[in-house]
Amino acid sequence: VLESDTECPASGLCNRFVKGDIRDYETVLAFGRQVDVLTIEIEHVNLEALEELEREGKTVIPRPKALRIIRDKILQKEYYRGHSIPSPEFIVVKDRAELMSRADFLPAVQKIGMGGYDGRGVIVMREAADMEQGFDSPSVLEKLVDIDKELALIVAIGAGREESVYPPVEMVFDPVLNLLDYQICPAVLPEKIFWKVEAIALTVARNFDSPGLFAVELFTDKAGNVYVNETAPRVHNSGHHTIEAHYCSQYDMLMRILLGLPPGNTDMILPSLMLNLLGEPGHSGPADYVGLNDVLRIDNAFVHIYGKRETRPGRKMGHVTVLSREKQELLHQASVVKRTLKVQAKAT
Ligand code: ADP
Repeated sequence: VLESDTECPASGLCNRFVKGDIRDYETVLAFGRQVDVLTIEIEHVNLEALEELEREGKTVIPRPKALRIIRDKILQKEYYRGHSIPSPEFIVVKDRAELMSRADFLPAVQKIGMGGYDGRGVIVMREAADMEQGFDSPSVLEKLVDIDKELALIVAIGAGREESVYPPVEMVFDPVLNLLDYQICPAVLPEKIFWKVEAIALTVARNFDSPGLFAVELFTDKAGNVYVNETAPRVHNSGHHTIEAHYCSQYDMLMRILLGLPPGNTDMILPSLMLNLLGEPGHSGPADYVGLNDVLRIDNAFVHIYGKRETRPGRKMGHVTVLSREKQELLHQASVVKRTLKVQAKAT
């Protein structure tokens, strides 16, 4: 593992940890030359180094050319358009001045081309006045969709291009933090929409021409349209539940892809609900997991704490997966977990 923070969650879990900046060309190149196969856990990696490593014969998964498209929302949107993949209509604006000249395109969502994530690179613009707060950099201006459901579907593409899909999950967002509130699997969808979602997600993943794990986020609207929102070429938040709820977890699947082994079974063992554990508002400092023992007593709840030392408001500190055949039971236990378990700063 290569990371600049020696106390990052992965550092204690890997065989070898190298401290270094994943955005630095020489650092990534030197690291990559010592291994057989490379993958990424975040998109903001030095891409030129990965391209050079691939030229030198290293296996890089996902392929850098797929990463180049995905890390820039402008190229990503053009990719969808170029492959006739349904995604909200958009225009490209190079700066705020150009943005301000396109009030005719509202209501819309401005998405910064490079660097945004977890909702930090996205602004909803309903009227011209909202544009004054817009990003002053190359970005996408995308039509606002009247969203019915937000879905995610993970597609695994094996080294030999074998395709496997996980069942779609439904994501429910916290409107204040603009972060995932909870996610339920499988998403409840009319059969026609289900097949559309699966076919679209497969088309997205397949055309990157790369092995890897691709998490495709989609929207549906009330009229039954399905749109691709964005794709992540890596293990994803929307796949955390697969650890307990599916025969082959997304991590197991990624290892199989990296090692050129046959794909695993994506079927679910039980329906699940996954909650992110976010740092409590107003709490910054060494993390304390208040109510943890009470949640550990719930026999169908599985707690994952990432081991980040410091909590901050809204920071992802872990997650809890609940398993049950009954949707009511999933929702009930989730609300118990939410009320009980809080990530606060230790009292000093
Ligand atoms: P990020 O990559 O930062 O997570 P997203 O592109 O997923 O950003 O957008 C964050 C959220 O903004 C989405 O989950 C959705 O709720 C909302 N959103 C994004 N695009 C649209 C759109 N075209 N119409 C309506 N809401 C949108």
